[in-house]
Amino acid sequence: MKQIIENIYHVGDNECSVYMVDTQSDQGLVLIDAGMNLDMIKQIDSHGVRFEDIQHCILTHCHIDHIGICAELSRELPDIKFYAHELDAIPIEEPDHDGRTAASWYGVRFEPVKLYQKFRSDTVLRFGSYDFQCIHTPGHTPGSISVLVELEGKKVLFGQDLHGPFNESFLSDLQDYQISMQKLLDLEADILCEGHFGIFQPGNLVRQYIDKHKHQNQP
Ligand SMILES: [Zn+2]
Ligand SMILES: [Zn+2]
Repeated sequence: MKQIIENIYHVGDNECSVYMVDTQSDQGLVLIDAGMNLDMIKQIDSHGVRFEDIQHCILTHCHIDHIGICAELSRELPDIKFYAHELDAIPIEEPDHDGRTAASWYGVRFEPVKLYQKFRSDTVLRFGSYDFQCIHTPGHTPGSISVLVELEGKKVLFGQDLHGPFNESFLSDLQDYQISMQKLLDLEADILCEGHFGIFQPGNLVRQYIDKHKHQNQP
């Protein structure tokens, strides 16, 4: 696990990158996506934070590489609350959506998990003194969200799978994607925490990364 800036961590990479925010409050730790490896998340214990303090997990979208261990996680941490956009909720909460979760790509079964809250529109979750702006950014999937957290005067954007891929079984939509990427560019984030390509900073590199993919993926 590596600190990105104070209280924001890159937990590690296992199929996707998993990030964590320490709210420094009774709301404990917030995961952004969960990945496919529970042991990786349990290892946060060796960095002075405690696995059992994870209370919330915001899911950026319904793909198994981002949500594969959620059911396992909820058995270990029965009070953990999961959040996602309602347009990606069915494949997360119900079995047999292996096309939409991409489980069929990985040749594994996805074990569904119940969501505590489903977003209908852009939503701000407040944990401790931190606002987590959950911004609907459809394109890769209909219910994809990006999460913006501001601290120390820096805007940190968790934008998973901004690069795609796009295909029918995901219900991808390149027109929506164009609008979503513009929405993210307009945020003028200082740091981008991406799902498969690492962490980009400062702001001009964030812009460059989003711009590049926006241009490559015209409808
Ligand atoms: Zn994905
Ligand atoms: Zn992914």
